[in-house]
Amino acid sequence: MGVPRVYCSCEVCLEARNGEGRNKRLRSSLQVDMADGGVTWIDCGPDWGRQMEAANLRSIDRMLITHAHFDHIGGLPEWYDACRWSDVRGIAYSPTEVIAEINARFPWLSSRIELRSLDEPIVIGQWRVRSWRVNHGKNGYAYAFRFQHERSGYTWVYCSDAIDLTEEQQEPLRGVDLLILGTSFFHEPYPRETRSLYDVREAMELFRLWQPKEVILTHLSHDIHIDHRDALPANVRYAETGMRVELQL
Ligand SMILES: [Zn+2]
Ligand SMILES: [Zn+2]
Repeated sequence: MGVPRVYCSCEVCLEARNGEGRNKRLRSSLQVDMADGGVTWIDCGPDWGRQMEAANLRSIDRMLITHAHFDHIGGLPEWYDACRWSDVRGIAYSPTEVIAEINARFPWLSSRIELRSLDEPIVIGQWRVRSWRVNHGKNGYAYAFRFQHERSGYTWVYCSDAIDLTEEQQEPLRGVDLLILGTSFFHEPYPRETRSLYDVREAMELFRLWQPKEVILTHLSHDIHIDHRDALPANVRYAETGMRVELQL
């Protein structure tokens, strides 16, 4: 939902609303700048227009979409309009079953945005990109993306919405250089069957198995105060709005 939540006056929401705003969070999204691959965006939530303004970007080269939930595709109509007014065709990649859901939601979208399958790996610049399906608890399924650099082998993964992954689904998460993982809560107290993302405590247990070199936690709710990072190991950070990360290939 982003932070502050409109109905809420908790400590984190108040800091986001009335303080310096260090806890102010938009819906999760990622801009990927590649030397030979232009500008790729991962997910197009309802804050997309504001995020583009914050990045001072007028257009992007392509969009990758993890799944068809509102917080990840709610900005597609705005991107569609931007493409229409600039008279360009947008290019979006997503697994076939996600494309079907997007088409059902926005039947007119494909007249201006070309939806291409990401069932098989694609190459963007010097990166090989593959997707795989991950469990998303009560909310069904999502996809995660794995980027591998063709020369250096550097590997990073974007997995924003996942819980209760099978052994097979965990395999591509092992031993990566950088893992960007979604965790909404530090400790989510609700019954398992109502949940849809790992919380921070569960994620830290999994990092013992997966052994990522570096972790950034994203998709954070008002349950997480940016200053409360004592419990995190040195290689794990909370994402912040506008955060920039340079990869050391
Ligand atoms: Zn709150
Ligand atoms: Zn989400």
